[in-house]
Amino acid sequence: MRSGVGAVRAILLWGMWILAGGYVLVLGIHAAGAGPSWEGWFGSFADDWLGLLTVWAPAAVCWLAASSARLRRPDVLLAAAAVTAYAAGDTVYLVTSIGGGVVPFPSLADVGYLLVYPLLLAALVVTVRRHARGLTLWVWLDCAVGSLGAAAVLAVVMQPVLESAGEGLSPLATLAATGPPVFDLVLVAFIAGIASLRGVEMGVRWTMLASGLLIFAATDVVYGLQVASGTYVLGTPVDAGWAVGLALMATWVELASRSKRAPGLATHDASRTAAMAVSSVATVAGLGVLVASSQVAVSPLALSLAAGALIAAGARAQLTNRLLERMAEQRLVAAATDELTGLPNRRAFYAEGHSRLLDPGKPRQALLMLDLDRFKEVNDSLGHRAGDLLLAEVSARLRDTLHGDDALARLGGDEFAILLDNAGREEALHAAERLSTAVAEPVTVDGASLSVGVSIGIAFFPDDGTDLSQLLRKSDLAMYKAKTSQRGYHVFSPADDADATATLQTIQELRSALETDQFELHYQPKVDLDSGQVHSVEALVRWQHPARGLLYPGAFLSLVEAAGLMHSLTLTVLGQALEQVAEWRRQGQPLTVAVNISASSLSDSDLPNQVATLLAAKGVPADALQLEITEEFLVGDRDLARAILTKLHTSGIKISVDDFGTGYSSLSYLRDLPIDEIKLDNSFVIPMTGDVRTTALVSSTIELAHNLGMRIVAEGVETAGTYTELSRMGCDQAQGYYMSRPVPAAELLRWLTHWQALDDPAEMPQRISVTA
Ligand code: C2E
Ligand code: CA
Ligand code: CA
Repeated sequence: MRSGVGAVRAILLWGMWILAGGYVLVLGIHAAGAGPSWEGWFGSFADDWLGLLTVWAPAAVCWLAASSARLRRPDVLLAAAAVTAYAAGDTVYLVTSIGGGVVPFPSLADVGYLLVYPLLLAALVVTVRRHARGLTLWVWLDCAVGSLGAAAVLAVVMQPVLESAGEGLSPLATLAATGPPVFDLVLVAFIAGIASLRGVEMGVRWTMLASGLLIFAATDVVYGLQVASGTYVLGTPVDAGWAVGLALMATWVELASRSKRAPGLATHDASRTAAMAVSSVATVAGLGVLVASSQVAVSPLALSLAAGALIAAGARAQLTNRLLERMAEQRLVAAATDELTGLPNRRAFYAEGHSRLLDPGKPRQALLMLDLDRFKEVNDSLGHRAGDLLLAEVSARLRDTLHGDDALARLGGDEFAILLDNAGREEALHAAERLSTAVAEPVTVDGASLSVGVSIGIAFFPDDGTDLSQLLRKSDLAMYKAKTSQRGYHVFSPADDADATATLQTIQELRSALETDQFELHYQPKVDLDSGQVHSVEALVRWQHPARGLLYPGAFLSLVEAAGLMHSLTLTVLGQALEQVAEWRRQGQPLTVAVNISASSLSDSDLPNQVATLLAAKGVPADALQLEITEEFLVGDRDLARAILTKLHTSGIKISVDDFGTGYSSLSYLRDLPIDEIKLDNSFVIPMTGDVRTTALVSSTIELAHNLGMRIVAEGVETAGTYTELSRMGCDQAQGYYMSRPVPAAELLRWLTHWQALDDPAEMPQRISVTA
């Protein structure tokens, strides 16, 4: 029974398209001046009866589909009613005009023609409402830009129709004459608006409906223009436009009624790019209309629509700026303070330190690294609460001991750092004494009196180092010296640099490692949160050291940089990663690879050419490569950054901003540079679950990224909870130990097979919580 209905539906659908095709063909042949005479029986058969069939066939398709869906789908019912209204109008017209009868204007036929539009609009509203729940203001502004821009252009095109429509007619006739063009304007505006709804994936079916509506409206417009200019002749393919439009709409109804599930919100790159294109085109169109109005007469309607489009575009830009500012503030506050002590954290200290060292007004500075003695004992024996109270008390004492111009921060755990302003050896030693004394005073915690000591390592700017990382390393070395010698504090001396010789040796080893291929890559998947699929991986370098075993980047990258070997490493990594991508492609796995590029390699203006050469050598398309860069590169020479990134980007390579949220640069680069993706640093992702402030920050970063048309990836996803939370917040991709650690290529393929086999919805982590 069921399959019987299915067969009838299929036959009807095909029949409808064959009729429509035949109609276009017959009209085409006639317009070309071939075929039998149009005046006789053939013309009346073709234009009247065949024409009528071609509009009733879609109506039949619609109603059969609607009844199969048990008349429960309002969008389907409305579209079916619209198609029927048109067919009924055509029938009335034909019946009245048979035998040369004059059809009055307006007539009952016009009621049918006019009814089509409100019914179609209602069908559109119902369809879109289902998709558009929970969209933000800027999405609606996009929608307004798109629709007003399209309407403005159409208003210019249809000016002759609109002008001639109402001339010398009764009010009722004016309504019948102006109704269709005005409705067409609204319909097209509506479709353009929906097309610019960024982040809303309407699906292939929707394209069917939209093109049906557009063809229908376009036919109206062409017909109207021809009538207005007196060039309309019966029996050209224009006559078939309505039928083709209706057939497309009926096909949409047929497909839509078959699926129970409405396609949900999705954030596919393609739809986002398309949406951005629509609103930019609409803005330009609006501008074009305004400019044109100085040359030719443009109707007030078109002018107001164009102005409206530009105002909406302006509001949209304003909103983006406000969002950028809000984000910048939010992340500065959240990212800069240590929650427990209220002191600046490591990140804030690095930023402050960098800028102080660059300040020519501060020629002398001392960096003090502090680490509490026996703090672990307190924590272990009295519990974390006592440990926290102790840290808070110590922080307060350190702050009270220092001058207002000194910078104090908690680096983490029981480690603090101080940058003493305008301090030489003498001032630093005084400060160290005062700090030790202050910390040594007993602290009462939960009724118990505790006393802890502190070890302080001291290094000087500029004698011991001119940049913060050198000073940190040296004061850290000195701090260990102080701790092991139990002398309270110690000033760095070159003799402490026991590592120095080892460092030299390692640099030698690094050189030969580059020559003898000791570097290998591990790959970590990035999982698409909406589909659970994996399309890309990040390559992370490892050093297979002949004596020390497998080394991670933390153990050697700073040395690579210091030895000036970073660029060779980058090229080695790029070569290996692309070779692997080529291999995967040969195996039928079209994966994209992301490679980390240090700021130093990126500043090399030859990089784009070298990358292009490598891509060509390995036979890998540019869009299979993604480069992860850090904000560090973007704070420097902005023009150079733009030039290099633009070159890479226009060649098809995707650009991603790594460790997003840890830098202090102004976020305006996001708007100014060609960036495809941002990777939210794991220091925001790891503490996400349960921390309201961090979660808010993550969610506004997601919003920001999408607002700017970028993809957002969360790093450091370690738990199912974080995975589902990110997926719920609309984050695009996730990367982290929860799914997979970085692994060698062969292991990645095994993991991938396993992951792809997880098609049981209950096993898919994101579905588990979606239903929960
Ligand atoms: P990154 O680019 O931020 O890479 C992510 C790091 O986070 C990797 O550390 C990865 O193993 C780790 N990770 C992944 N998932 C999780 C998770 O769920 N939780 C936590 N806590 N960590 C996770 P790895 O491999 O040690 O790399 C460290 C850094 O070294 C990278 O940070 C990147 O900045 C740099 N690096 C790695 N490979 C290269 C390279 O080929 N060239 C350059 N210039 N830098 C590289
Ligand atoms: Ca990275
Ligand atoms: Ca990162």
